[in-house]
Amino acid sequence: MTSIFSADWVLPVEGDPIEDGAVVVEGGRIAAVGPTEELGAGARFEGAAIVPGFVNAHSHLEYAVYAGFGDGLAFGPWLATHIERKARIGWEDFVAIARLGGAECLASGITTVADASYSGAAAPACAGLGLRAIVYLEVFGADPAAALEHVARLRDRIEPSLSERVRLGVSPHAPYSVSADVYRATYALGLPVVTHVSESDHELDYMLRGDGPIAGVTSVGHPRTTSVRHLAAEGLLGGNVIAAHCVKVDAEEIELLAAHGVAVAHCPRSNAMLGCGLAPLAELRSAGLRVGLGTDSPASTPSFDMFEEMRAAVYAARARAGRPEALSAAEALELATLGGARALGLDGEIGSLVPGKRADLAVVSLAGSPYLPWEDPAVAVVFGGSPERVQLSLVDGEARYEKGGFGWLEVRSAAASARNGLLGRPREAVRARVAQKT
Ligand SMILES: [Zn+2]
Repeated sequence: MTSIFSADWVLPVEGDPIEDGAVVVEGGRIAAVGPTEELGAGARFEGAAIVPGFVNAHSHLEYAVYAGFGDGLAFGPWLATHIERKARIGWEDFVAIARLGGAECLASGITTVADASYSGAAAPACAGLGLRAIVYLEVFGADPAAALEHVARLRDRIEPSLSERVRLGVSPHAPYSVSADVYRATYALGLPVVTHVSESDHELDYMLRGDGPIAGVTSVGHPRTTSVRHLAAEGLLGGNVIAAHCVKVDAEEIELLAAHGVAVAHCPRSNAMLGCGLAPLAELRSAGLRVGLGTDSPASTPSFDMFEEMRAAVYAARARAGRPEALSAAEALELATLGGARALGLDGEIGSLVPGKRADLAVVSLAGSPYLPWEDPAVAVVFGGSPERVQLSLVDGEARYEKGGFGWLEVRSAAASARNGLLGRPREAVRARVAQKT
């Protein structure tokens, strides 16, 4: 089956923007990209741009209803609040919450997520929504046998949800919460890896001296060196690893990451919200690292909004460098699409609109915004775009989100009930209240 989508602009990311452009989709893949004049108009979107679906290089979908949890608490009590609340809900609730997170991603034009999942719930959630995903099962602690048993148990539970579209990965959480032996054991599974690296000063305090707030919540020893140097010395940096955050990295650590082909998930909103700092994006990029953008989760950021994330990346890069040309809108768009695809090792399949790749795309309307009539379509999408302006998200050529046509009521009410469970409140009819907002 062939379908055609056209708009004022097509931004292929690989290749120049095409004014009055069209994308032809056949069998779930992109068959052609070019002028509407040549390809036909098909489904026409006025005042809109067609972009590659965004690739969210770091998320935790199952924290989608954690907004505001523990705000203002110090790290220790903050973590204790999360652990206590998490124990109050079960598998169905985790899936309901992850489903809301996945739906919000699709509504933001995100068509692929690299999701670190504590329970594995992201796998059935993404499979049900048709959202492309690598679901990295999270691992903690110092006992390799226990870690492998944990992964095997979660893997069994989510096996029916796995496919070419929803793939499995593993996420040894961080060098301060996971021992080198556990890292090694999880790497031996041969799966793609995500790990949190050099996120905060607290992490450095613990890694270097064994003190600070992390000392009270981990049973893993400290190596007396930084996270990147520790992972490098243990042979735990490699091309299948995404290092999330990389805020507190010096020039030598960036060289180590580059020499080992590690990819980075840049999460500027999360890093700012938690007061961790500004990652050295310019240095990471100029070292040749593969860098994608991640929204992290509402446990730290307010939303799975990739437009806000692109803007935050631009603000942070320009503020840090003191130069407006430090990161352009087109470069931010590339980070959010092809950059993420490269970080996930999926750039042969997704991340740009070129014939042969999967038909993962988003249609963003700029109608009624101050960015029309058009000057620079990338500037318009990055600075004027928002989830409310996403008209359509396609994964494998199929509509996975259409404005006004999505079952938000069911998704929101199940997740709201789970949030009540987390808060230790009765789960009485939240449906009516949710319905008013939908
Ligand atoms: Zn994370």
